[in-house]
This record gives sequence, structure tokens and C-alpha cells, in this order.
Amino acid sequence: MRPEQADEVQNISTLPINDASARWRMPYTAKPRFIQMETVTKCNAKCPFCPQNEIVRDPARMPTETWKKIVDDTRGWGITYRPFLTNEPFVDNRMPEIVRYIKDNDPTARVEFNTNGELMTEKLSGELLEAGVDIMRFSIDGLSREIYEPSRIGIDFTKVMERTQRFLELWDEGGYRDKVFTELRMIEVPENKHEVEAYKDFWGPRCSEVLITHMYQWPWTGQKREDVVLKPCLKVLDEMFFYTNGNATICCWDVHERAVVGNVNEQSVGEIWESYAARCMRATLDDGRRDLLNLCSRCNAYQEYDFSRFATDAGTG
Ligand code: SF4
Repeated sequence: MRPEQADEVQNISTLPINDASARWRMPYTAKPRFIQMETVTKCNAKCPFCPQNEIVRDPARMPTETWKKIVDDTRGWGITYRPFLTNEPFVDNRMPEIVRYIKDNDPTARVEFNTNGELMTEKLSGELLEAGVDIMRFSIDGLSREIYEPSRIGIDFTKVMERTQRFLELWDEGGYRDKVFTELRMIEVPENKHEVEAYKDFWGPRCSEVLITHMYQWPWTGQKREDVVLKPCLKVLDEMFFYTNGNATICCWDVHERAVVGNVNEQSVGEIWESYAARCMRATLDDGRRDLLNLCSRCNAYQEYDFSRFATDAGTG
């Protein structure tokens, strides 16, 4: 859940209290609202800031029965599905089939992608729009080759620009402006700061929205034990994440399976969401004890966020 969503949260169906003695009481939704599925482990880029190249998980491709089970288990729940995790989604050539499967059988479902755009051929663009994709975000961190290519190692800038623009032309000409949200996003860093205004001018008229965002720090990327922030977490309130092997984790930053709470090949998604392992992790986070969870013990996310509105009598926020 994003900080601005947590600020507004009210009247949602939540899980029963985890631990009455915890110092905060966070509003976990009764069922997940966002599900990410790592349908493949690979990426076509080797970006220096991303731990994707550390992944050695098997299998490299999620079996069809696994992603179908995740979708079947959650049909009608109003889920936004993101069929990717730390990988580039369109390395998986099954994506149009996956979108069709999600959308054809569930009118409450939404499908969202984040892509670097390089593999977005015209054929794939048409198939995804026809299959019913709802949200397409393109991550392009610069408006010139000199700025872009050093940060997105292995990706051809010309291809990215041509293919992204072609997708957006098909989106516009095909009458998808009101049905599909498209976004261009750029992580602002000192190297590309001077291109921000030109970036907005170029992409603004071509898509639904331009987002300029900031670099975040993944857990376990240099933080020491003493850097841990002893606060609850917003990321775990309404999302679930699945690896190619069916294991489920609580956090999209869990590249190395440090916070696995179940496996969808053995349990239903609902069982995993309410499992003992998941409840223990929530109770620990609600007490601000990230230091007791392996994954979270090197995480300083949300250190500026004011959690006081969620504080209980058991402590101060
Ligand atoms: S690592 Fe833990 S504390 Fe950090 S964002 Fe993920 S779940 Fe939250």
C-alpha cells in the first residue's frame, strides 16, 4: 500500500487482530488486493541498481498450472494482477495468453505491467491491448541515449523509444485512451535531472501520465543491522508475491526468499494469506520488530512515515 493510500484508509474489510499487545495495529485487508507473479526469473537488462542478476531460482519459468492456480484461487476478488516480480515481464512470451486468462474469466480483475519497453513489438502491443491489459507503465530513465544507456545496461535506446511510441500510437488510434492507463516513469537522479522538463514535454501528450520518481533502497543492499527502522510496514498490507516455484512472500523486495509464508502448489492463496507464518510476520511488524525478521532486519523503508494514527495503547507511534 502506498503512503498516500494508507493515509486515507477507512472502511475496508480487514483481518482480525494479530496480536493485541503489538504497539501498532495496521489495517491488513481481509484478502490481498494486489498479486505479483514471477512468471519468469529473467530480464533483458542488467541495470546496476537492480538485484535481478543475483537470482538463481529454479524453475526459470513458472509452470502454467502454477500461475493458473493463483488466478483461479482468487477469481472474483477484485485483484490487480502484476505478472512480473524482479524480472522484465515480456521476456515471457506467454503474456498475451496470461492476460486473456485473467481477464476472460474475471470481470473484477485488472492487469498491470511495468516494462522497460525493449521487447514490446508491434504484434505484442496489439495482442496485449486486445487481451484487455488495464495499466501499462514504461520505465525509461532519460530522454537521450547518452543518459539512458549507462543506467539500463544491455538495452537499446532506439528500440525502446520506437517500440514505446508505437505501443502508444496503437493505444491512441485504437480508442484505448479511456480504457487503458499508460504511464511513462523516470527515476530522477543527478545524471538525468536536466532532462526532466523535456521528458515531460515529450511524453506528456503521448500517454495518460508522466511520473518522475526517486530511487529507493532495496533491503540487504549495504544496510547494517543498526540501520533497521523499528516501525511497522506499509508494503505488506494488501499485497502477495509469488515466485516461479510457487512460494509466496510478503514483500516485492524479497529477491532471495527470506520471508516465504507458503506455497501455492500446496495451499490456496486464501490459506497462505491467513496462514500462521503470515500472521506471525504481521504481528512482529506491528510491534515494530523488523529486527526479528530476516528479510526486514536490513530494511529502512518508510522511516519518514508517521505511523502514529495506527498506534495502540501498547506503545507510542
Ligand atoms: S523488507 Fe520488510 S519492512 Fe522492508 S518493505 Fe519489505 S516487508 Fe516491509
